[in-house]
Amino acid sequence: MPRPIFACISRSALSHNLEVVRRRLDAARPAGDSAKVWAVVKANAYGHGIERAVAGFRGADGLAMLDLAEAVRCREAGWQGPILLLEGIFEASDLEVVGRYGLTLAVHHADQLAWLAQAKAPRPIDVFAKLNTGMNRLGFTPAAYAGAYARLVELQRRGVLGQVGHMTHFSTADTEEGIAAQLDVFRRTTAGLPGPASLCNSAASLRYPEVAAAWARPGIALYGASPFADESAESLGLRPAMALKSRLIATQDLRAGDAVGYGGRYRAEGAMRIGVVACGYADGYPRHAPTGTPIVVAGVRTRLLGTVSMDMLAVDLTPVPHAQVGAPVTLWGDHGLSVDEVAAASGTIGYELLCALAPRVPVHFQE
Ligand SMILES: *Cc1c(COP(=O)(O)O)cnc(C)c1O
Repeated sequence: MPRPIFACISRSALSHNLEVVRRRLDAARPAGDSAKVWAVVKANAYGHGIERAVAGFRGADGLAMLDLAEAVRCREAGWQGPILLLEGIFEASDLEVVGRYGLTLAVHHADQLAWLAQAKAPRPIDVFAKLNTGMNRLGFTPAAYAGAYARLVELQRRGVLGQVGHMTHFSTADTEEGIAAQLDVFRRTTAGLPGPASLCNSAASLRYPEVAAAWARPGIALYGASPFADESAESLGLRPAMALKSRLIATQDLRAGDAVGYGGRYRAEGAMRIGVVACGYADGYPRHAPTGTPIVVAGVRTRLLGTVSMDMLAVDLTPVPHAQVGAPVTLWGDHGLSVDEVAAASGTIGYELLCALAPRVPVHFQE
């Protein structure tokens, strides 16, 4: 028998979450006017697998990611719609693959403009010019933007480019600060420049759907995790697309003072029973998860004890005295235990845990 850990990925949850975000966007628009959705599938679809994401997001208008190789995998999985490379190309020679697979590009710095000017593409390439509205990660400054846009329009006139749109990325859509300052820069800088716009990640799509413009770019919400620290995925109507599951492979009876795991970081206060779960940091479970992190054994919520090992972790069986070797364990994504709760207990965000699902964990892809 293989080691009992596995991840369940639900196609219907991916599709459901896409519809939830879509409904939220469309409710903020006049009837009959729909936002288009780039489903963001970067980082192997946030750990869920590109091919599974292609199956789950058949109803999306486009797919967005960073890696050329992932874009090619989308095409090979049968995706015929638009594909947006969120960081554009990394060198001029990437244009060959862009042309062959009909990819759409973000254009965020002057080198990319120069590479496009040399392009001999078989058909016009659609692009989104990226404006740095304050995140200071990618994009032309507001001062440089009109010039960059004019060069793209010139390339459009020469037939090198097709559609030329505008995009920016919000850094604080999930916090109190919100998007107002960045939105203001975007609107002032792009005023009067034609082309479709793409603004909103998950947090902005859900909190400010009225600013979404032509194309939204949700990621995390589509996988059923929350972009907000103070609002659960469940309360947003989202369903977890990934559940991480395993089983107990041992139990131990402890006496007061007995220590658990590397470093003896947990010590029993009295007699207690603990379970050992086949899941560790080499599976993608966070090593820094502290004692007390929630975990479900045989349907009952209990807690992690001591330091997470590479291949195992320990749980308190006090609330589940009947649990024996073989008892089912949910690390996240089922029985009301969200990946966001495990992430919060571990000082990180659901995104990091989903993306970190290790290749050695077998995946069951379910309807
Ligand atoms: C990752 C990413 C998104 C999606 O962000 P979420 O917070 O997962 O919704 C959108 N746009 C860009 C440019 C990104 O890098």
